[in-house]
Amino acid sequence: MFLSLRYSFTFFFILLLLSPSHINASTTILTQSATKIAITNHNIIQSLNNARRGTKITGISQFKRYLHRFGYLLQKSNTSFSDEFDATLELALVRYQRNLGLQVTGKLDSNTVSQMITPRCGDPDTNDTTPHNHNHHHNHVHNVHSTKNFVFFPGKPRWSRSMPMTLTYAFSRENMIHSLSKKEIIEAFQRAFMRWASVIPVSFVEVSDFELTDIKIGFYNAEHGDGEPFDGELGVLAHSFSPEIGRLHLDAAETWAVDDFRSTASEVAVDLESVATHEIGHLLGLSHSSLKEAVMYPSLRPRDKRADLNIDDIKGVQSLYGSNPNFRSEWSLESDMSANHGSGLVKHLRLASSLIIIISLIHSLCS
Ligand SMILES: [Zn+2]
Ligand SMILES: [Zn+2]
Repeated sequence: MFLSLRYSFTFFFILLLLSPSHINASTTILTQSATKIAITNHNIIQSLNNARRGTKITGISQFKRYLHRFGYLLQKSNTSFSDEFDATLELALVRYQRNLGLQVTGKLDSNTVSQMITPRCGDPDTNDTTPHNHNHHHNHVHNVHSTKNFVFFPGKPRWSRSMPMTLTYAFSRENMIHSLSKKEIIEAFQRAFMRWASVIPVSFVEVSDFELTDIKIGFYNAEHGDGEPFDGELGVLAHSFSPEIGRLHLDAAETWAVDDFRSTASEVAVDLESVATHEIGHLLGLSHSSLKEAVMYPSLRPRDKRADLNIDDIKGVQSLYGSNPNFRSEWSLESDMSANHGSGLVKHLRLASSLIIIISLIHSLCS
């Protein structure tokens, strides 16, 4: 199973170098878990790309299962997907492509299939088909003219304590990994929590009591009691729950890395800090962003690091909790300058320069 997934990864890198005429093999799509798309031959990419309404290709059902699993194709049950490219698949693809910031074609083009093969967070995407959708709320934080990609969970839940608030977190004693030291894991999470704490009036404190803590962190294999089984290497990397549940689960089967991949040559290594920062965003109330540069974008390629908060992440979390009084970014300075504070500052500068001219005049008259 792992081998075939690795193969499909390698294939997509090769695809960038080869024209379709170089590729020939028989047509097979392997069916796997709903979270993994498996393609074991090369011709299939062209057939998928050409598929449109009415086309039937063996294995199309796995794309339907995948789209269903991540919050698209909401009406259908998980077991009865056909291999026909039908209108509901087309609609789901359009929503998926829009949500993932891809070119909207409504087709299984190679970019879309490649995106589906990229490892991602297990939380479904909050999209237009969700009944209580908050996608189109205006952004009232600082700059109303900017494009907003951040999304909240339905109902916009957040931790409801008074500000400034402290949330405690603890690591499960039993559910840890041993490929990294405890210290490396703790420090990666400290940096991840610090990123969010620096922009909102929320602080995070590690405690040892796993039962009483607000946020519970652990590494789990396969089925682990919450109905969202992990799928082994790659595919789904982690998942976490919206406020105020506080559970953050990482797939123990991943090759987790902490030091910018210096200590591992593994092609499937995943940056723990990037995933931790993303999952903490969910714990705070952010759903998936369609901005590829945002920490809250759902997917992360192996050996990639995306842990620094984007302005989109900051605006999203600040619209839930407000700003940390110590937080100043280039972006907030810019919007201050363009608003009233800016013109006020210009007035002060003008007044100061006028005073200097008057003083110089008096000085020259007196001498
Ligand atoms: Zn996520
Ligand atoms: Zn879980």
